[in-house]
Amino acid sequence: MSEKFPHDINVDFHMHSNASDGALSAEELVRRAADNGVQMLALTDHDTLAGQQAAMETARKLGLHYVSGVEVSVTWGGETVHVVGLNVDIHAQGLNQTLAGIRQGRHGRAQAMARDLVSHGLPDILEDAKAYARNPDLIGRTHFARALVAKGVCASMNDVFQRYLTPGKPGYQAHQWATLTQAVHAIRGAGGVAVLAHPARYRLSAIGHWALIDEFKTLGGTAIEVVTGSHTDQDARKFQRIAVERGLHASRGSDFHAEGESRFDVGAVPPLPDATRPVWHGWAG
Ligand code: AMP
Ligand code: MN
Ligand code: MN
Ligand code: MN
Repeated sequence: MSEKFPHDINVDFHMHSNASDGALSAEELVRRAADNGVQMLALTDHDTLAGQQAAMETARKLGLHYVSGVEVSVTWGGETVHVVGLNVDIHAQGLNQTLAGIRQGRHGRAQAMARDLVSHGLPDILEDAKAYARNPDLIGRTHFARALVAKGVCASMNDVFQRYLTPGKPGYQAHQWATLTQAVHAIRGAGGVAVLAHPARYRLSAIGHWALIDEFKTLGGTAIEVVTGSHTDQDARKFQRIAVERGLHASRGSDFHAEGESRFDVGAVPPLPDATRPVWHGWAG
């Protein structure tokens, strides 16, 4: 690992374990990362730090550089936006309280999702979805999607999100997550770096994207994901330019959830473009 060439390090700062909606335990996931040649990584489960200790310990055993992480659910301008926190103090009270508040809303939301699917003539899959959620506090759309595939209602996860669980489709529940201010402040308050996750995924106009990035920066956000499993090469080039223009650091992550579900395996997304300053600059070595 050379601090002189931070682009040459295989860094994956976005992945999920079964503490949220990934399929592998934190330990299995870190072992998979090591097998794939990842040298520095962060487990970034949705709205929970439950997997951090196990991920850190496994990384230490395997000689990988571990960075603590979390992916915080936010509602901004009526759209769900995700903010990754890196290098956070996992014991920070403010961050833990903010995450606990977000998690609380997931129970009622899951019940409403199940009821809405039933009202559209589908079977009641709440118990099945719960069975997929290894962390009962973290029940989410992925668990419902797995249940719909297992029941034979849908052929694949993609098929689920095309027909259900997305805005305007059966099973989707508009939900109020944290505010952008709460998320960035909680991450910064825990000593961490706030990274705007997969910016190309948000259904925002060009002006909306600028407004989001400007507000994120003003609040203290310092990086955006340029390379992620849900960006095309074109998306990566676009947000690389935006990162350079706005003086934001760039992050790289697979957003791996499960084999057979995710487009990219852990550590297997393209490298960051040379022109961007990696968010891990200064962390290696
Ligand atoms: P939730 O936090 O419960 O709203 O669930 C969000 C999660 O659902 C994301 O992190 C993905 O894991 C999954 N998801 C959302 N949209 C899609 C999609 N179009 N294809 C596959 N997975 C998706
Ligand atoms: Mn997810
Ligand atoms: Mn996300
Ligand atoms: Mn994610």
